[in-house]
Amino acid sequence: MKSYRKEIFFNIAARMDFVHITPEVQQAIDESGVREGLVLVNSMHITASVFINDNESGLHQDYKKWLEKLAPHAPIEQYRHNDTGEDNADAHMKRQIMGREVVVAITDGKLDLGTWERIFYGEFDGRRRKRVLIKIIGE
Ligand code: ZN
Repeated sequence: MKSYRKEIFFNIAARMDFVHITPEVQQAIDESGVREGLVLVNSMHITASVFINDNESGLHQDYKKWLEKLAPHAPIEQYRHNDTGEDNADAHMKRQIMGREVVVAITDGKLDLGTWERIFYGEFDGRRRKRVLIKIIGE
């Protein structure tokens, strides 16, 4: 069995944004040489997500509006986590609901995704360098 590990980095200008990373994940699979196996893609931060959904900008705007309704950033005093001097309690909650990681099958060297499935990085406390782990196992 082969295994391959890669980190990819982000420095998102906004507090919240989504980045389409399907091409980067496929590139890592190509580098690994794995033809049949699994790829795990996870955020290495507790204020960012990796998730699968539609690559459609209206939906991404809907997500931002919905997440801001569920866990508004301000007023920051509404969150006990922010008593520590941080201001990112909302980002922890947004990450929780959007998830930490995805696992996708690799078949014949390609991501075995559903027709409209695409992989995204979800940032909820940006404006600093963050990373995502890609781990591939198979043969
Ligand atoms: Zn925090």
